[in-house]
Amino acid sequence: MQLSPSPRAADLKARLEAFMAEHIYPAEARYYRESEELGPWKVQPVVEELKPLARVAGLWNLFLPESDHGAGLSNLDYAPLCEVMGRSHLAPEVFNCSAPDTGNMEVLARYGTPEQQARWLTPLLEGRIRSGFAMTEPAVASSDATNIESRITRDGDDYVINGRKWFTTGATDPRCKILIFMGKTDPDNADRHRQQSMILVPMDTPGITVHRPLPVFGFYGMPDRASEVSFEDVRVPAANMLLGEGRGFEIAQGRLGPGRIHHCMRLIGLAERVLEKVCARAEERVAFGRPVAEQTVTLERIAEARIAIEQARLLTLKAAWMMDTVGNKQAKAEIAMIKVAVPNMACRVIDMAIQLFGGAGVTNDFALGAAYATARLLRIADGPDEVHRNQIGRLELRRQRAARS
Ligand SMILES: Cc1cc2nc3c(=O)[nH]c(=O)nc-3n(C[C@H](O)[C@H](O)[C@H](O)COP(=O)(O)OP(=O)(O)OC[C@H]3O[C@@H](n4cnc5c(N)ncnc54)[C@H](O)[C@@H]3O)c2cc1C
Repeated sequence: MQLSPSPRAADLKARLEAFMAEHIYPAEARYYRESEELGPWKVQPVVEELKPLARVAGLWNLFLPESDHGAGLSNLDYAPLCEVMGRSHLAPEVFNCSAPDTGNMEVLARYGTPEQQARWLTPLLEGRIRSGFAMTEPAVASSDATNIESRITRDGDDYVINGRKWFTTGATDPRCKILIFMGKTDPDNADRHRQQSMILVPMDTPGITVHRPLPVFGFYGMPDRASEVSFEDVRVPAANMLLGEGRGFEIAQGRLGPGRIHHCMRLIGLAERVLEKVCARAEERVAFGRPVAEQTVTLERIAEARIAIEQARLLTLKAAWMMDTVGNKQAKAEIAMIKVAVPNMACRVIDMAIQLFGGAGVTNDFALGAAYATARLLRIADGPDEVHRNQIGRLELRRQRAARS
């Protein structure tokens, strides 16, 4: 496994870091202020101001691997870039590399028809609109996606959609124009993995109601724009179906691998940035006659954080390398491993930072509140830890069984 990035990725990383220093870090305080003042139904103007600069700088759509649409970087080459973006809550969207749009663009690039791509992928790639992914439902345990109950019923040349979703990230954003909706087209199919389909639902279709935003630890609009949405006799053309009826799980598998590794890459960047803040603070803050950095407990904590970040990064790079070399399906154990390891690592590092910052740690003055909220939500979003651990355990048993026989 070659760990150093290609010359192209190294060049992009240097340019990305320069852009972060010049435009992103100085704008962060404004971003947090605007998020708080404007809330989840509005767009922070700072984001829209910075997007054209990132695009002109050629730091745009870096996430799409082997694609005509994006930068065409491998996952291994994208990893250090995504990590740099993850250092700031503001950055990913400025570079058009933020969830859930990246996952949705991947779906459209891989599975969309030319018409679907022209209508939705192009404006998403240009950063003119945003999108959402509506799978999770309040009424059922959605970590088991076979439980999803919403209906997508064929009626002549249309499909009619009924159901209630929540945690649909992005639905309160006025720029959100399209949802990828998951629901049952064939609820009686004996194969539970063939019951679900995914369909494109424009946000302005009659029958859609966005009921409320859902805060993450009291934060609205940042670090997430989750919301509750209902669908009542929502009618869309049959041509909006993605890939075909009954293929929802197939698409979900294709979507979740890249989406999960991107979250992990960003969280490594976030943990790294938090550790930088810890080291600076520990050296300047004096308690009981000496800098906090001189307390052995601080040295222990910093060392533990450094070890944990390095471990998480190496495992993530291995998962990226496997996705590039043997494919997302073969890399599923590694993807599941990082989905557990990285958010847990980030939670531990940020929790240590909060303690070291004292009272300031529980505010967002040093962006630690938002950092913790981000890391903690990712122990649940895209599947809770337990589900991934179960999968890792089952794969390990299967592997050991095969080795014995
Ligand atoms: C901020 C945020 C943003 C999100 N964005 C989106 C989005 O854009 N689109 C979308 O569709 N969804 C989104 N989600 C939803 C997320 O994917 C689900 O919350 C997650 O899959 C868990 O489903 P659930 O909430 O129904 O929990 P449940 O399925 O009710 O599970 C609850 C708990 O039960 C335990 N559990 C479940 N299964 C097992 C098991 N096999 N073994 C042991 N314990 C288990 C776990 O502790 C789990 O956390 C988001 C969630 C959050 C928090």
